[in-house]
Amino acid sequence: MRIQFWGTRGSIAKPGPSTARYGGNTSCIELRSARGTLVVIDCGTGGHSLAQKLITDDAKPLRGNILISHTHWDHIQGIPFFLPFFVCGNEWDIYGPKGVRESLREVLAGQMQYNYFPVTLDQCGAKIRYHDLVEGAFAIDDIKLSARYLNHPALTLGYRLQVDGATVVYACDHEPHARMLALGDATIAGQDLRHAEFIDGADLLIHDAQYTAEEYPEKVGWGHSPAEYVVKLAQYARVKRVALTHHDPLRDDDAMERLIAGVRQHSSPVDVFAAFEGQVVEVAACPGRVASRCEELQAETPVEPARAPRAVLLGVADTRASGAVSVALRAESICTQAFLNIDDGLRAIAKDRPSLAIVDHDPPRTDGIGLCHAIRRQAWDEHGLAVVLVAEQQNEDAGVAAGVSDWLIKPFTAAHARTTIRKWLLRTASKSIKGAVPADQEQRLPPLRVRHTAKSLGSDRSLQRVLQKRADQRDPAISSDKSALLWMYGREIASFDTPTFSKKLGEIIARATSTP
Ligand SMILES: [Zn+2]
Ligand SMILES: [Zn+2]
Repeated sequence: MRIQFWGTRGSIAKPGPSTARYGGNTSCIELRSARGTLVVIDCGTGGHSLAQKLITDDAKPLRGNILISHTHWDHIQGIPFFLPFFVCGNEWDIYGPKGVRESLREVLAGQMQYNYFPVTLDQCGAKIRYHDLVEGAFAIDDIKLSARYLNHPALTLGYRLQVDGATVVYACDHEPHARMLALGDATIAGQDLRHAEFIDGADLLIHDAQYTAEEYPEKVGWGHSPAEYVVKLAQYARVKRVALTHHDPLRDDDAMERLIAGVRQHSSPVDVFAAFEGQVVEVAACPGRVASRCEELQAETPVEPARAPRAVLLGVADTRASGAVSVALRAESICTQAFLNIDDGLRAIAKDRPSLAIVDHDPPRTDGIGLCHAIRRQAWDEHGLAVVLVAEQQNEDAGVAAGVSDWLIKPFTAAHARTTIRKWLLRTASKSIKGAVPADQEQRLPPLRVRHTAKSLGSDRSLQRVLQKRADQRDPAISSDKSALLWMYGREIASFDTPTFSKKLGEIIARATSTP
């Protein structure tokens, strides 16, 4: 297959003499199979030059496909200027991550609203089909693809493409899950291991490498990788070649040369290069080398609200962390529910069958790993409740042993929390549609009604005392409102609520519990 880079810059376009060699346009890649299938991967400002070439050189009418990793501006700003969309007779399929409530089409239309652009998405002359993706497998003509969520403060999909006997993986934007791994001081495990499996055996890995390991401590949580980590990952996953991309807008061409010279000293046997604008790469078939992934789930599973997950439980005592999570939950219209201790929490989970639990792990005050162990021992956990632990540090070995699904490491932003919530809600929803939910059940499931618990998790009273002390230090009116609401909701109202009522009440509780 043939690949051409049309945009290699990250975050914001940076044209000018200091970036002339590696390019100033943001993410855009053209991929063509030997049979001629055209796939554009991301459509940042680099998409403008690609569009000009397609209009000039390609046969008419034009058929093409676009894979969107996520809808941050640097990956979609070329779409309003993508000329083939405005030509009648052309046909395009756009693939990208589905939100919990909004579709890919709705999000893309947002950047072409009246205030931002003079033409709306509906006014494009070409026939455009939109494909909302969750994790899983799909196909575009002769190309087999699989999609997997990356670690970024927006719901982001990485893509693995197999065609003509070769495999290419695109992973932008992505930050290592374990921060110590980003600094080169940890083994690849947990969610980072899943990411390594996703790229395993690729003939070409195109990966976010916006930072260096030295710069990373200042950029924790920004959602990007140090180049040194990418090389280590590629070595571990037996990748043949690596194209570093999503170059930092502050890194000029000379700095790029120094970066690539530095990482090449330790990259053997992987061939590493820094992608530049205009670069063409032929990816040849390598028989016996491709590690074919066998996906159970379909990436185009229609996860509609009526079939979406039913509940989220939240037990986070740390004020700052719970504030960020509460903002994220409110943004997704998610409600709250209280439980008093691990036993109470287990009963609530068994009764309500939530799709996700977000709980503290702050030993000795709160034992999230202990709760996770307890959940995994329950007969009703046969499908594996998603459990995200909020902690100061990731304890990967203990987490894997307990069946922890994911970690939110403090400090984290509301955007990061929201992305983690979306990721696990959609994973659970698509898994349940594929596996556990009978076809005739789909209409009978309640609409998306996600709850989170109040801030109590400890199996003893010490956490309650800490919480009460913190509440006492805040506005007493808020504290008493919160207690009353939680008590009322948890003890009296929960069993009689309606979706509308619980949503409204949940919003009130979330506001009260997130007050700093
Ligand atoms: Zn980006
Ligand atoms: Zn991004």
